[in-house]
Amino acid sequence: MQASIETLSDGSEYVGCALFLTVRKLGTRAPADDDNESGHLDFDTSAGSDEDGKIVARYSLTGLPSLTGRISADQSFKLLQNGAFRAVLLPALKSLGGLPSLFLNLLSSGYRLATAEDDGSWTEDSKPGPQIYDAISVIGPPGTGEKLDGILEIMFGNRRSRPAIRLCNVPDRRGWFEVYSDSYVLIWGRLVRGEAVSVVYLVSLPSAGDTDQQKSCTFAILPEKLASLDAIWDTFRELPHTVVANKNEESHLIDFVIHLNPNIISGTQHLNQGTKRQKTGRTKVASHQVAVPSWIEESRLVRAHLATVSNGRPGESSTRPRILQRARRQALRLNKTLPFAFPFNEQSESSQSASWDDNGKTTALAYQLFPGTSVKFKRCNDTVTGASPFSFVARNNCLKDVDSNEDMGLENPAVEALRCAFLDRPSVCENDENEIELDSDGDVENEDEAKEDIVIPCPRLIVLGTGCAKPSPSRGSSGYGILLPSGDQERPSSLVLSCIIECGEGTLTGLSRHLPPICCRSPGHSTSLDAHLSHVCFLWISHSHLDHYGDVCELVERIAHAKRRSGQRSDGDGRLVVIAPSKVLKMIDLMRQGTNHGGPMKRSYLGVTHREFQSSPFARDIRSSVCNFELRYPGQSTHYRPFTTLCNVEVEHCRDAHAVILEMEVPSSRPNCSLERLTVCFSGDTRPSDNLVGHCRRCTGRISLLIHEATFLHDGHGKSEAKKKNHSTTIEALDIARRIDAGACLLTHFSQRYQHVNYADVSRDTSYAFPWGFGRGWPGAAP
Ligand SMILES: [Zn+2]
Ligand SMILES: [Zn+2]
Repeated sequence: MQASIETLSDGSEYVGCALFLTVRKLGTRAPADDDNESGHLDFDTSAGSDEDGKIVARYSLTGLPSLTGRISADQSFKLLQNGAFRAVLLPALKSLGGLPSLFLNLLSSGYRLATAEDDGSWTEDSKPGPQIYDAISVIGPPGTGEKLDGILEIMFGNRRSRPAIRLCNVPDRRGWFEVYSDSYVLIWGRLVRGEAVSVVYLVSLPSAGDTDQQKSCTFAILPEKLASLDAIWDTFRELPHTVVANKNEESHLIDFVIHLNPNIISGTQHLNQGTKRQKTGRTKVASHQVAVPSWIEESRLVRAHLATVSNGRPGESSTRPRILQRARRQALRLNKTLPFAFPFNEQSESSQSASWDDNGKTTALAYQLFPGTSVKFKRCNDTVTGASPFSFVARNNCLKDVDSNEDMGLENPAVEALRCAFLDRPSVCENDENEIELDSDGDVENEDEAKEDIVIPCPRLIVLGTGCAKPSPSRGSSGYGILLPSGDQERPSSLVLSCIIECGEGTLTGLSRHLPPICCRSPGHSTSLDAHLSHVCFLWISHSHLDHYGDVCELVERIAHAKRRSGQRSDGDGRLVVIAPSKVLKMIDLMRQGTNHGGPMKRSYLGVTHREFQSSPFARDIRSSVCNFELRYPGQSTHYRPFTTLCNVEVEHCRDAHAVILEMEVPSSRPNCSLERLTVCFSGDTRPSDNLVGHCRRCTGRISLLIHEATFLHDGHGKSEAKKKNHSTTIEALDIARRIDAGACLLTHFSQRYQHVNYADVSRDTSYAFPWGFGRGWPGAAP
């Protein structure tokens, strides 16, 4: 057996951290992937050494945050293949956002299902057939069951079958409880009470080693700091008997501890002398200080500390490798072509810093878990190396020329116990125009030259994802942001995010990565992202498919938080408006229950369905809060109201599917003109819709920009698939643009079957001039 911990996300980009424990059976290497170029993660495309075996079990140690849920559910990640996925551990009642994705994928992956009985109960299927793998266990604090029931009800309410889920609650009592076991792991949980209930987990691998004489490996996962650190550490004063009994004299009781986003991480990376710029030029060790009570340090309890990092520390997260190495490459490419829209601050890393002891705690060196690293715990031969049964090797398989088999001991505190591999910058060759200026007359403004006169920037649309329901690391799920001009004392003219259309999984991450930086010195804001989010007026979601709303709960939470911090009252006029199908509104309510900000607290957002918004007398206040939303006119002391009309139009896709026509009035850069009209129409997912064309034609002015889905190419296969799945083809979408005489058309929501959408495929049989280059491979780029 070979066990390793893989870091999919370190938690620094608003997705929560995602660590997986993977157990492989040696000598049974899985057959090589035939579709490695299809764009999936590189985690398991190992170099083919003997130590890589078939994955036999996999556990999510940190819940399942939304984006990682989507990626994990992708079969390419092998999470669900071979029935390897066993359990999700929830350190607290959040990070559940990815469960809907996972559940949807379980349905088609051969996992055990449950069938609805006439009395409304569900029984697990036991009959053979497609259900060849066992049910998945979800382990969490009290309250987990209610959340799961809620999610399953929303996702599968009126279906005959749904995935079978086994719930393992950590009991609401003092002490350690064995909550889960199978042939590979034994897991104990213990509640810690604080601001919210969280769980400390102890995971033991009884057979992690290669031989029978070797004893078990045990590690602990410390939850994010919702409770006091002392309370968390006090749980270690008594440990389960099995853990104590399994250890021999020389070894530590706990082999390592993983600190999830510890607040007291110093934030200072230092390169250890030994590994500084090794011959590959890319490998470095990063370490951080975490506070640990002195009794822990003095006892021989814990051998090593590993840590993830928390969200959005100003100026810090941008220096880290991103969730997916590919996304990082993409970000670099985008930065090279459009530095304004895609900032990529490679700030110089601060040099070594001395000691931290501000809380009167001992500080221990923690090796940091970056995305893309995998910590392999592997036994050395006891008889040869004496007391130290484990060594740690982190590797990143994306790096071909780093020797991944190098073993290093932990004895020397400064050694490369955990090596973090960084990708170097790729050569920039592709032009990804993921950002579009909405005003076609707008020249590229040069902000440096405009110190005297206030230059009013053109409104912008930021496209965060052009993918469809099927996950892919190279094309994100739907998400669009509209940036409008605004001004304040510190910065007389800038663009701020004013509304968000669609928020598939990863939208928050996309925003944090791609929004232009704005001044965030105003009181309360800690990051540029928060400053942007505090301006957001509404969030609009077309229909209840996960690729359009998967990130909604995190996003609503974050926007509410940003608005509170900027001094807006949580029940005031500036509340976020969420226009979405009722299923999505239910999901937001469910996820917010029992979290710090849900429950009895006044709702910090206003939820409304498309139909209510359109006509219900009860939604009058909500309509007016959108129309009365104000931004400061750049360079002046007056305000303007950008959103004049928001019209929801029913379209043909699924129940409650809508398109939106948004009429705006925005500050003009033309002389003698203070406001000019700008109309954006977004189709959502739909067949070509006459209803939408009719509504567009009835608009006061011309549609400036049509954003239309174009899931399929207009070939024989594409045309029939589009009909079958209620989507549009490229030509059908452009035809809608022609019929409504749109000023510009942006195609999006491409099926993942198309690696590159070729301009020629689109332009061949249409007379409609294709106005905007978009996406990889077009316009005219060589395939
Ligand atoms: Zn979709
Ligand atoms: Zn859809």
